[in-house]
Amino acid sequence: MDDCIFCKITGGEVPAKTIHRDDDVIAIEDLNPQAPSHALVLPVRHHATIVDLMRDEPALAARLIAVASQIGLDLGGEQGFRLVVNTGDHGGQTVGHVHAHVLAGRRMSWPPG
Ligand code: 5GP
Ligand code: ZN
Repeated sequence: MDDCIFCKITGGEVPAKTIHRDDDVIAIEDLNPQAPSHALVLPVRHHATIVDLMRDEPALAARLIAVASQIGLDLGGEQGFRLVVNTGDHGGQTVGHVHAHVLAGRRMSWPPG
């Protein structure tokens, strides 16, 4: 996707601080962190939302969650972490390339805004 900022990051056109990379999944530091640790975990191949990813590549959705969980453990340890996939307009999704947020390093509140 030519106009997708996350495709530009996975393609190396736009720099990002990379935490994890394999053939299918990449994890980067969020540009505008909302917690002491804030990672984004995304598939290398473009899928707009978690709904699209689940429909088209369910095994990759599982890999995405596996990588995100491990990063959550690495960042939050036994104090825990939050895993969020904003989806669509009401879900607060602003980048149309599916990604999981991993937030750690502080106590989270509920309900989210
Ligand atoms: P969303 O609102 O779609 O759930 O999350 C998009 C996230 O991507 C936001 O937390 C935002 O800070 C992050 N973001 C947007 N553009 C960039 C970028 O160019 N680089 C990085 N590392 N993060 C970005
Ligand atoms: Zn993309």
